[in-house]
Amino acid sequence: AKILRLILGDQLNIQHPWFEKCDDSVTYLLMEMRQETDYVVHHIQKVVGIFAAMEEFANQLTALGHQVYHYPIDHPENHQTIAGQLQFLISRDHFTHFEYQLPDEYRLDQLLKELKTFLKIPVSAVDTHHFLTSREFLGEFFKGKKTFLMENFYREMRRKYQILMEGNLPLTGQWNYDQENRNALKDKKLLRPAKLHPKNVQRIVNRIETSGVKTMGSINPEQFPWPTSRSESLEILDYFCDHLLQHFGAYQDALTTWDPYLFHSRLSFSLNTKMISPLEVVQKVESFWYGHQDRISISQVEGFIRQIIGWREYMRGIYWAKMPDYAQLNYFEHEQKLPSWFWTGKTKMSCLKQSIGQSLDLAYAHHIQRLMVTGNFALLAGIHPDEVDQWYLGIYIDAFEWVEITNTRGMSQFADGGIVGTKPYVSSANYIKKQGNYCEHCAYDSSKKTGHGSCPFNSLYWHFYARNREKLERNPRIGMMYRTWDKMNNKQEILNQADFYLKNLDEL
Ligand code: FAD
Ligand code: SF4
Repeated sequence: AKILRLILGDQLNIQHPWFEKCDDSVTYLLMEMRQETDYVVHHIQKVVGIFAAMEEFANQLTALGHQVYHYPIDHPENHQTIAGQLQFLISRDHFTHFEYQLPDEYRLDQLLKELKTFLKIPVSAVDTHHFLTSREFLGEFFKGKKTFLMENFYREMRRKYQILMEGNLPLTGQWNYDQENRNALKDKKLLRPAKLHPKNVQRIVNRIETSGVKTMGSINPEQFPWPTSRSESLEILDYFCDHLLQHFGAYQDALTTWDPYLFHSRLSFSLNTKMISPLEVVQKVESFWYGHQDRISISQVEGFIRQIIGWREYMRGIYWAKMPDYAQLNYFEHEQKLPSWFWTGKTKMSCLKQSIGQSLDLAYAHHIQRLMVTGNFALLAGIHPDEVDQWYLGIYIDAFEWVEITNTRGMSQFADGGIVGTKPYVSSANYIKKQGNYCEHCAYDSSKKTGHGSCPFNSLYWHFYARNREKLERNPRIGMMYRTWDKMNNKQEILNQADFYLKNLDEL
């Protein structure tokens, strides 16, 4: 037998059983391709990060004695699509079998399944050995239930993997410390610098540019900061445990101009490309905590672990339970285009300027910036979920559809009508002001709902509720809002103000 095995850019898992021993009959294929650079406009750092990590992975496999084909995007024999490259290699090198790891994206899953029908050799797929659950687990877990609840799923994961557990009960007597994870950061001195891995990626930037790939955002090719190997990813995890974990939970929802990363781990790129596994991350954090309970409280640790074995895994389950229909959902029938400043950061609204500006510069924003600043604004402004998805899928270093679309269309835009979340995440300026210092630096007045200089979030917020009354009023978690709205005496003025802003989104 002569076997060709495909490794996608988000399958860089050196601990996969495939690599346990070297086998002369096996050749691994890694390829940079236009098929993947062009399905959406990606941030330049995302393309560079994936290409750099693939290249290191290919080198690592070669050093371990495996046979590897690595095709840079500008290679003369690069056919730029999976199907094209496979046909070329199979006929040139006479491979007798083709094998792949199950992809995480629906699009690629379909494409790879179709290969069976036109490649003339046997095709088989294996698991990625990355996630805690199979693709189907969540669908089966919630079978027959009208609504999915993340918390139930999360508890099941805690039990199954015995994370922070004593038998069947949570170790500290409480499952969830979310209530303690909502502080604004008041003291700058608590901040620690992020652990960066500056490296020169000029060579990779050059080949992306000369190939004519369209990208967004900026990059400093001499100081590319993201981890591109398993060892660098492990360093980030260690650094997180040593320096950031102690404040992670408390300031998870903070918004500040002082620092783009705060106490967030920056592990999403390493996780999503599978350079490290979710189980090793949470087990490391858990065991670190056992040795440092004197200075790290359970709420910091539980808050972090919940994101990974709870939210991340849950989103993946929803994705496979609901695709492909999920990608079409538009519960509020929103139709607007994203304002042009989403691609420049040039807006007078300080919260959006900060969140978009750092996204363009760093290919990163933390969760509350994504959810309660950019996502919140897009939902209030009635932007079409396709537009919102494309932006999120392109701009972040960690954006892969299975976790992007469930977070964006689901959690953030409520376009699924309540599969991921129980109510839309929207807020007026109040919330943004409470969580940090954005409003202090703003051209708009967070305390005004109407009139010149009034914060757009305030009038758009009520406009959102008013225009979606039929769809939201019966939601038990929202009914109260309508009673407040009905009692307000300047309703028309607020709606007029919102209409004015909606007509002039590009000018905000
Ligand atoms: P930390 O705050 O340190 O959290 C630790 C880890 O928990 C993350 O690395 C991530 O793996 C996981 N995690 C946390 N929240 C979530 C979540 N809601 N869903 C899934 N995993 C989570 N995450 C992505 O990985 N890719 C995306 O494309 C993506 N798009 C998003 C779009 C929107 C609109 C929103 C609201 C969130 C999105 N998220 C996405 C989730 C989350 O914002 C990022 O995982 C997180 O900001 C990554 O930074 P970090 O590694 O420093 O995270
Ligand atoms: Fe954002 Fe409004 Fe605060 Fe300005 S005043 S930072 S636009 S919430």
